[in-house]
Amino acid sequence: MDAGERIKKVAVLGAGLMGHGIAEVCAMAGYEVTMRDIKQEFIDRGMSMIKESLVKLEQKGRIKSADEVLSRIKTTLDLEEAVKDADLVIEAVPEVVDIKKQVWEEVDRFAKKDAIFASNTSTMKITMLGGFTSRPDKFAGLHFFNPPVLMKLVEVIRGEKTDEETMQILVEFVKSIGKVPVRVEKDVPGFIVNRVQAPAGVLLMCIIEKGIATPEEVDATVRRLGLPMGPFELMDYTGVDIFYNAMKYYAKTISPDYEPPEFLEKMVRENKLGRKTGMGWYDWSAGRPKIDSSKATDRINPMDFTFVEINEAVRLVEMGVATPQDIDTAVKLGLNRPFGPFELAKQFGSEQIAKRLEELAKQFGKKIFEPARTLKEGKLEELLKPKEDAGEKKEEFKTIKIERLEGGVTKLVLNRPDRLNTISPELMDELDKAITMLWNDKDTRVIVITGAGDRAFSAGADLTTLITHPFDFLEHNRRGERVFTRLREIPKPVIAAINGYALGGGLEIAMNCDIRLAKKSAVIGLPEVGLGLLPGWSGTQRMVKLVGISRAMQLALTGERITAEEAEKWGLINKVFDDDRFEEEVMRYARNIAERCAPISMALIKRLINKGGEVPMDIGLEWECTAAGLLFSTEDLREGISAFLRKEKPQFKGR
Ligand code: NAD
Repeated sequence: MDAGERIKKVAVLGAGLMGHGIAEVCAMAGYEVTMRDIKQEFIDRGMSMIKESLVKLEQKGRIKSADEVLSRIKTTLDLEEAVKDADLVIEAVPEVVDIKKQVWEEVDRFAKKDAIFASNTSTMKITMLGGFTSRPDKFAGLHFFNPPVLMKLVEVIRGEKTDEETMQILVEFVKSIGKVPVRVEKDVPGFIVNRVQAPAGVLLMCIIEKGIATPEEVDATVRRLGLPMGPFELMDYTGVDIFYNAMKYYAKTISPDYEPPEFLEKMVRENKLGRKTGMGWYDWSAGRPKIDSSKATDRINPMDFTFVEINEAVRLVEMGVATPQDIDTAVKLGLNRPFGPFELAKQFGSEQIAKRLEELAKQFGKKIFEPARTLKEGKLEELLKPKEDAGEKKEEFKTIKIERLEGGVTKLVLNRPDRLNTISPELMDELDKAITMLWNDKDTRVIVITGAGDRAFSAGADLTTLITHPFDFLEHNRRGERVFTRLREIPKPVIAAINGYALGGGLEIAMNCDIRLAKKSAVIGLPEVGLGLLPGWSGTQRMVKLVGISRAMQLALTGERITAEEAEKWGLINKVFDDDRFEEEVMRYARNIAERCAPISMALIKRLINKGGEVPMDIGLEWECTAAGLLFSTEDLREGISAFLRKEKPQFKGR
């Protein structure tokens, strides 16, 4: 894809720290740029920063003429004027959802139908921002680093709906402005560079919280390695509030392990934000603090920071966010480092890294430090092999998508986005295969089943593929029952995330999950009776158990549809969430279970509740005693009780 052919005019929204720099680099590359802000004074400030920078570049001989570049930059206060002929709109307005929402809704109204949209956000979901427009397929993240004119890296982030053509055009565009694009294939918090660094921030906080070393001791130790600034001085330099807000964001979106400690909250409350307020970890009132190099200490090992970063980088590869090579490139260019995490990882090997990570996880009670699956299994080399010869057995699913998310949650998408009635014989077989695959997968602690897109969980069986012979039809029903029985028996919690219609077979899948969470606008029903069918796949049997005879009759005999809220009142749905927060709330819910609850306990509880109802009470109680006895010998029981006494979060291992 030639960006030069597709993109000629660029609109940059926001003339602030990032916007003016983005406008400058686009104009330097020959694009016609219109920069828009909301007040003339902001535009003037942005333009004078651009001029100042271009003049310096001209003096250094990096550009021929500052004036010539400037002649390509127009400015305006009028959004319509800025975007109406733009082929690419890059947004760099403040990191506030309401502002971004308003901007993108307006851009969507005025921009050309084939324009490409990109946001420079650091901490918002690209998928959410794309959802503010009518063309999320043409929307992606374009994450520049500060200052754009000097920093080579641009992360190109795929939202859930971004199409491949948009990704390719943006990759080529980034190359055409002389930058290095790195593709971020999944819309994860922190993308690559910020994400890889994030756990090291938690480690810093742990070191201070536990009194292992002071900020000055940490900085002196790190500087001994030849780095110009220690992490606490750097935090003061960029702003303690920025670090705090990032931790808060990751606590909400990745793991509660990121929750900032009380002493950091206090610093923010007291306006001790570092250089900009004169006081942070250090006193800046008399300029840059002097770090006493004799304070370097052996109580901390600087390699620990590297190990937690490697761990996070490995997780990103496992999640399919980026390749190891791209992650190394991104970290080197985005953080001006000599080596990327995988280049460093090769020096140590899985075993040494995993061992140290286990120790850190235990010492600080943080699950995020636990080694990623690849490290635990000693498979780093395999991960580093280029894809073609890695011999990796790809999961070959056509109608199901499996996504491994943070914190032990695996999402299983019923993936036939072109139809609402998704359940074909092929989907049923693949669901069965997926259950087998996840059954003993130690990294999957909770499974979330959901529908593709935002209209349906599943509106039932795909009637177009339905079988013509009565015996085949009987077998199709049997197959469903077998698969759903396995769903009830898989020894880990399965959550149905009902993101739209759950009708007939769709509702039957959900009924065989352990917990049902629904979007407020979801619609629920068993319409089979109106088609001359009946609620099979355990529909008649399971519904009675969940809501009692009277309500089961109401749904199955009338084919009536009910709302999610009504189903919640009935006890058929466990929780209902607002549509716009649904996905976030479901993932928070699933992650919370995956991180807080002991896996063997969950497996036994699930079995006892499901099977207990099928036998007389005294037998069920006997099973319960036996299961409790079994738990007594697990490491997790000892960990659960000792963490409770230590007032820390337990680190369960499923052993
Ligand atoms: P900034 O506050 O310096 O600039 C934002 C500009 O947008 C301001 O000039 C503001 O007046 C203007 N603005 C507000 N509403 C507007 C509207 N409706 N239309 C046009 N302009 C409007 O912020 P920044 O640091 O440049 O950050 C911008 C974006 O870039 C944010 O999403 C941020 O997360 C992201 N980002 C920042 C950095 C960084 O280091 N600062 C790095 C990467 C990404």
